[in-house]
Amino acid sequence: MIQLKSIEEIEKMRASGRIVGTILKEMGERVRPGVTTGELDAYAEARTLEFGAIPAFKGYHGFPGTVCISVNDEVVHGIPSTKRVLQEGDIVGLDFGVIFDGWYGDSARTFAVGKIADSAQKLLNVTEEGLLKGIEQCREGSRLFDIGHAVQNFVEGHGYSVVREFVGHGIGRALHEDPQVPNYGPRGKGIPLKVGMVLAIEPMINMGRPDVKVLKDGWTAVTCDRSLSAHFEHTVAITESGPQILTLAI
Ligand code: MG
Ligand code: MG
Repeated sequence: MIQLKSIEEIEKMRASGRIVGTILKEMGERVRPGVTTGELDAYAEARTLEFGAIPAFKGYHGFPGTVCISVNDEVVHGIPSTKRVLQEGDIVGLDFGVIFDGWYGDSARTFAVGKIADSAQKLLNVTEEGLLKGIEQCREGSRLFDIGHAVQNFVEGHGYSVVREFVGHGIGRALHEDPQVPNYGPRGKGIPLKVGMVLAIEPMINMGRPDVKVLKDGWTAVTCDRSLSAHFEHTVAITESGPQILTLAI
């Protein structure tokens, strides 16, 4: 069942989302060669507590970290570790959420570690722009698959592929609410979008084939062909005046 949010509830979600966006930005400023994914995770956890918020992912189905940190061919759900040292030329996806005053925020960005190949930078740019194309569809009068269609059409036009196994989702008092929001699909299909829906839109885009598999750690999803993968996500409210991104930095 889809839980519609009132204007007051959306403002509470914006407060949560701003914490997520701000800490994600701060983590991005700390991404550099030599830093470990465990250090980034510890930073995010400490900042979350300073904001009076709760890490949303830690312990979720047993996930051990505060942030899902996925490097290069890792797609999503990478486990942070003080043994994993970022190297010049890597790309690193940071997927992070908090609970604040009972409301969830969820956002992800993929950052360059030092100087990266032009081809990798293009993957990041196209994935982020693909997310924005999906967000543009988050308005009353559109249908659910219009979001995924816009993402897919844009990124496939650049020769990339859309991961199918993981999708976006409704979000509110729970991290994952209905509906699921695929990053692919036919235009004009699916449930009608309505004012008051809040959706986490999160394309995962591969440079090569779309296929992914989960490693033996039970969490880390990687591309089967070892190609690079990027992930960008925002929590977005559908309002009378159109889509509003709730997970912007303060
Ligand atoms: Mg996320
Ligand atoms: Mg999400």
